[in-house]
Amino acid sequence: MDLSWILNHLGEDRERYFGAVAPPIVQSSIFAFPSVAAMRAGFRDQLGSHVYTRGNNPTVEILRKKVAALEGAEDCLMFGSGAAAMSAGVIACVTGGDHVVCVARPYSWTRALLQDLLGRFGVATSFVDGTDVANFEAAINDRTRLIVLESPNSMTFEQQDLAAVAAIARARGIRTICDNSYATPLNQSPIALGIDLVAHSATKYLNGHSDVVAGALCGTAALIRDVFRGPYMTLGAILAPHDAWLMIRGLRTLPIRMQRIAATTGKVLAFLQAHPRVRRVYSPHASGNPQWGLSDRQLSGASGLLTIELHAPDIAAIERFCDGLTRFLMTVSWGGYESLAFPVCAVFAADAPMHPPHGVPLTLVRLSIGLEEPDVLIADLESAFARL
Ligand SMILES: *Cc1c(COP(=O)(O)O)cnc(C)c1O
Repeated sequence: MDLSWILNHLGEDRERYFGAVAPPIVQSSIFAFPSVAAMRAGFRDQLGSHVYTRGNNPTVEILRKKVAALEGAEDCLMFGSGAAAMSAGVIACVTGGDHVVCVARPYSWTRALLQDLLGRFGVATSFVDGTDVANFEAAINDRTRLIVLESPNSMTFEQQDLAAVAAIARARGIRTICDNSYATPLNQSPIALGIDLVAHSATKYLNGHSDVVAGALCGTAALIRDVFRGPYMTLGAILAPHDAWLMIRGLRTLPIRMQRIAATTGKVLAFLQAHPRVRRVYSPHASGNPQWGLSDRQLSGASGLLTIELHAPDIAAIERFCDGLTRFLMTVSWGGYESLAFPVCAVFAADAPMHPPHGVPLTLVRLSIGLEEPDVLIADLESAFARL
């Protein structure tokens, strides 16, 4: 993959905009035509032309081309959030009476989409432990139309053997969609392994600056056209041109951010695994991870997410630890330039309005490693451990 060409040049038709090096923000809802014939042609191909910004916008189109190329996909649609991208991809593949097989611990709103929203419309979902491929085969029935994957997931990092699941699905005419937000297109290529649709929360690493909420959905031109004509245009959860422009800027540094994040995460992981206050570190790359072989085969590099289980007497001690962090900002989300800490107990309390990830203990704290110097982060963790 000629990464720098994709990130610096692909989709950027500079002679059309005065040679400007940064692309223009085409802040227009509509595009006018010189003739009825031209308008008719535009309507016939709303995805490939410019008619209305709920369909295709020139600034967003630059981003679509770059993300598709990074994923090795024929086409990509951008959305106003990762949740919208996943929703559109799933809705394009199922109808009332269909059955879906999904991994046991998907992103919480992916579970809500399948279980609550689509459940109301007669779509049934079986949630299975995706670490064993045989569980997918066992859950498939005559009505199964879609398998929903997330490898690794973003809290405990279970993975699926994507090539094996894709082969099972293809043999039965079942579609597959994989959330690839954790790995980024740089560290995992689901489409090359036979997966049909790849969804991203572009809010995370792709944008990387905690200033845009966005989603992406990649696949074949035919499948993306189906999504475009159906849920994309109908649900209307578009990415605005200005947000697309910010995302193009964020994306330009993806490889260098991921390199730095991987190096720092390796150091923080080694520190945490050796620390007496840490009972367990969850990471695809942690020693002792039973799926280490799959990590090695399927992921070409590390991302910056890891989750720790502390030796703590109670939740209050975990609160003291988190409250003591000064360089890790305490909040949801991940994938930005800044390091973050996410205490599960702050959000997924028993009476919380959100869905607790299935079977995830409340004692976990997820860390997202950013671009700070590794020593600064390790020193911050060390001083917070002293408060346990
Ligand atoms: C954040 C996240 C999403 C949802 O993305 P939004 O941009 O917040 O809508 C989906 N999947 C994973 C793994 C995520 O972490």
